[in-house]
Amino acid sequence: MKIIHVPEPGGPEKMQLADAPVPQQGPKQALVRLHASGVNFIDVYFRIALYKADLPITLGSEGAGVVEAVGAEVTEVAPGDRVAYAMSRGSYAQYAVVPAALLVKIPDHLDFPLAAAAMLQGMTAHYLTHSTYALKKGDTCLVHAAAGGAGGLIVQMAKMLGARVFGTVSTEQKAQIARGHGADETILYTQQDFEAEVKRLTGGRGVDVVYDSVGKTTFEKSLNSLRPRGLMALFGQSSGAVPPFDPNTLNGKGSLFLTRPSLGHYVATREELLWRAGDVLSWMDSGRLKVRIDRTYPLADAADAHRDLEARRTTGKLVLTIP
Ligand code: NDP
Repeated sequence: MKIIHVPEPGGPEKMQLADAPVPQQGPKQALVRLHASGVNFIDVYFRIALYKADLPITLGSEGAGVVEAVGAEVTEVAPGDRVAYAMSRGSYAQYAVVPAALLVKIPDHLDFPLAAAAMLQGMTAHYLTHSTYALKKGDTCLVHAAAGGAGGLIVQMAKMLGARVFGTVSTEQKAQIARGHGADETILYTQQDFEAEVKRLTGGRGVDVVYDSVGKTTFEKSLNSLRPRGLMALFGQSSGAVPPFDPNTLNGKGSLFLTRPSLGHYVATREELLWRAGDVLSWMDSGRLKVRIDRTYPLADAADAHRDLEARRTTGKLVLTIP
């Protein structure tokens, strides 16, 4: 089979198309013939060894395709099922062995690129808006990178829940996209002081929650944008890691809450996974949720997808199509 081979950590040039044997599933696993793979920032973190992995580095954390074979103890899916998943590495390939407990069946008329695009960022937006800080009607939230993959979905789900949503973006073109997702206000955080804007828009109060995927460049001002006892969900670091932090700061800024959540802890059981994935896929199916695929690339050009993502050139999801 064809696979993106990464022999050692480094830049996108380390990602080469190569041949490898088709993997063999274990008793609780399924062999999936992949047709599409999502591209996520976490793939970059594994590529550069910010997140550790064995060599050669296996890339790709979400995919969609057809179950080819299942292990003896698998009950969740059967050969021939159209499925999608997130959080198992190895989706930059024609075949992947995936824990069956992570697989969900996809609606008949949802195509593979859209299904692959929805899983990781869709379930992330779901847990952030429904669990980490469960938004309710009248709440206010600030969403960074609101035209991005995760950000665009958070904006849409926050609006479904009745919140007032402020979104930050780097360009006017991205602002239009964020407004298209439903953002009530957009802030060009490359030109405007977003903390001052949030204070102005909330009459000095601050927002109830900040969903921050940007990290280093936004962290401090995100805390300053919260109301007393507001919650900061720092879930990513597309601008770099936040430096070491003194918890007393949270007291000084109004008894704030700070959490650094990740998807794995919010799909802790099969039931929870099916709830989140089921909501995301059914909302897409009914048109309530729009997953915006910005660009697709053939598997062989996966390195270009990484270049575009890291260069901040993207507005939504990047997907690899797999021959
Ligand atoms: P995005 O589609 O949001 O792309 C990144 C965006 O971040 C850019 O388009 C850009 O938007 C913004 N950005 C700000 N500063 C920079 C910078 N210096 N370099 C690059 N981009 C920058 O990516 P994802 O939705 O895939 O992921 C965003 C972050 O969220 C990542 O850190 C990812 O690991 C994390 N994440 C965490 C999860 C979790 O469960 N904890 C799950 C999913 C993602 P703009 O130009 O508008 O500023």
